[in-house]
Amino acid sequence: MIRLEGVTKRFPNGQEALKGLSLSVDDGEMVFVTGHSGAGKSTLLKLIALIERPTSGQVIVDGQNTRRVSRRKVPAYRRQIGMVFQDHKLLYDRPVFDNVALPLIIAGVGHRDASRKVRAALDQVGLLRKERQFPETLSSGEQQRVGIARAIVSRPKLLIADEPTGNLDPDLSLEVMRIFRRFNEVGVTLLIASHDIALIDQLGCRRIALEDGTLQQQADEDPVAEYVERYEAERERDQWQ
Ligand code: ADP
Repeated sequence: MIRLEGVTKRFPNGQEALKGLSLSVDDGEMVFVTGHSGAGKSTLLKLIALIERPTSGQVIVDGQNTRRVSRRKVPAYRRQIGMVFQDHKLLYDRPVFDNVALPLIIAGVGHRDASRKVRAALDQVGLLRKERQFPETLSSGEQQRVGIARAIVSRPKLLIADEPTGNLDPDLSLEVMRIFRRFNEVGVTLLIASHDIALIDQLGCRRIALEDGTLQQQADEDPVAEYVERYEAERERDQWQ
């Protein structure tokens, strides 16, 4: 579903956010991108969403090389991808229903069809009875679920989320992840940037760890090798004493 080949992203100020990054995510996978602040997680998601373009290398999403997506085609390209942000990006002067309907209205979907899709999306995140409420009357977990409903209302095959639980407490975070998991179970591919390692470990999903714009080198976690190394070092030290 996603393939990056030697992707470098250099911003005009010279800052390199990604450095020759290669990775792939299979169709139907649920994968987390982890790493410290500044590791390049958001930049990776922005390249996939075509909010940014790579300086060099290829970004291939669902068989389409993003280089070949002209500026005019970007809106259509983006409609295939659901996006969830940490800060919800909701319209606070509009009720929940309108917020979720927005991508459909932009895409020119008819009123009746849109209503059906919005209700299905709200049902999936457990907010069907709140469609007339305004976002500020909802809890932050509920607001995030509105953001998720909006992201999946067009039934995308791919959902990308940038720190979707960044502002939520552990219980609400788990609830959001359970919603993601349910989408994944029906075939949606998910790529989620998060630094909540404890939560990710709980879910047992694959992790792509970024460090300074590249894949983090896996630490040698072989306990036997570590033990042998320590034993030999100690023996060597004893010989000299
Ligand atoms: P993360 O999401 O892991 O915190 P980012 O992808 O946001 O990391 O940022 C990676 C690096 O690129 C950081 O050093 C950041 O300051 C830099 N960066 C991100 N966006 C821009 C930009 N528009 N202009 C210049 N530098 C940027």
